[in-house]
Amino acid sequence: MTALCEYDLDELTDIVIALGEKKYRAGQIMRHVTAFDGFGEYSDVPKAFVRILEQNYIDRAVTETTRVVSSDGAVKYLFVTHDGKLIESVFLPHDYGNSVCVSCQVGCAMGCLFCASGHYGLERNLSAGEILAQVLYIARDQKDNGGVKKVVMMGSGSPLANYENTVKFIRLITSPNGLNIGMRNISVSTCGIPDKIDALARDGFCGTLSLSLHAATDEKRKTIMRIANSYTVKQNIDALKRFFGKTGRRVVIEYILIGGFNDTDDDATKLKDLLKGVCCHVNLIPLNKTEYCDLVPCSKKRAYAFCDRLNKLGVSATVRRSMGSDVAGACGQLKNRTNEKRIDKIT
Ligand code: SAH
Repeated sequence: MTALCEYDLDELTDIVIALGEKKYRAGQIMRHVTAFDGFGEYSDVPKAFVRILEQNYIDRAVTETTRVVSSDGAVKYLFVTHDGKLIESVFLPHDYGNSVCVSCQVGCAMGCLFCASGHYGLERNLSAGEILAQVLYIARDQKDNGGVKKVVMMGSGSPLANYENTVKFIRLITSPNGLNIGMRNISVSTCGIPDKIDALARDGFCGTLSLSLHAATDEKRKTIMRIANSYTVKQNIDALKRFFGKTGRRVVIEYILIGGFNDTDDDATKLKDLLKGVCCHVNLIPLNKTEYCDLVPCSKKRAYAFCDRLNKLGVSATVRRSMGSDVAGACGQLKNRTNEKRIDKIT
């Protein structure tokens, strides 16, 4: 059975009519879906029709199993899907509007050396409704704390490797009939799949696109990111330029600072040369430790020195404030299981 949050208002309208009810019921159902209501809370819908819905559809696509609250206020939620898969999402409270970091796949196929999410490979894509349900649940849960204003697709999985569901999720969450989150408040992060970056621009995405670059040369990038064997840095940078040309949206370059690997002044200069002519902001992320590899973060001092160097070279850059690391909820720390395994080298 399919969850009702997989559908937009038009699709719900078709469903309602096919089940022999009046069209306007679709709007009622949409409101309940958006509020993450269970069938028991469909108080304005006739009981007999709720029973029919119950026999054909699921009211909620995910269920919370546990949560961990960080000392910095971030909340990591562990959800279970209807087929028993575990997925994580993180609520990030901010004065300027709370955000939610969602997962879009169970696991990840990319196998980046530094990231826990990919170390067991990809189990399956999440559907648009399963991605949406993470936000709907958290928005309801955190209603008294200001709800959710921003969504970042930076949890487990690679959004552009689950393209159709990512695009449908964005359409559903930005719909005025749904949570109505502004597209500008949505960030999609990618390890770099140039033709999908083009597709996103073509399909009307005008939120923030972030590229996980992490190294300025193909040679270096290949040692930490498997995807670098498929697409070059140049192919990705060219795609970012086209994305900006089409959308007018400044892109974000994500750059993990790894001690002794990519954090020297020379690395900063190479990065500046690479980004010439790209309308972008560089987000420097001091590496968060995972138990899976021996890479080390650079010192705080070095991170700020690297940032200063970029700024002096005329590149807009800041050091990302990390949240949730004490509950393994920070960038690269999400995983969907708990057993141990180490990978020391990209193969
Ligand atoms: N799957 C998406 C989002 C990943 S998480 C992607 O590939 O872009 C958001 C950012 O954190 C990405 O740039 C990712 O590369 C980075 N990241 C992954 N592991 C990390 C770690 N251990 N420490 C710091 N940042 C990490």
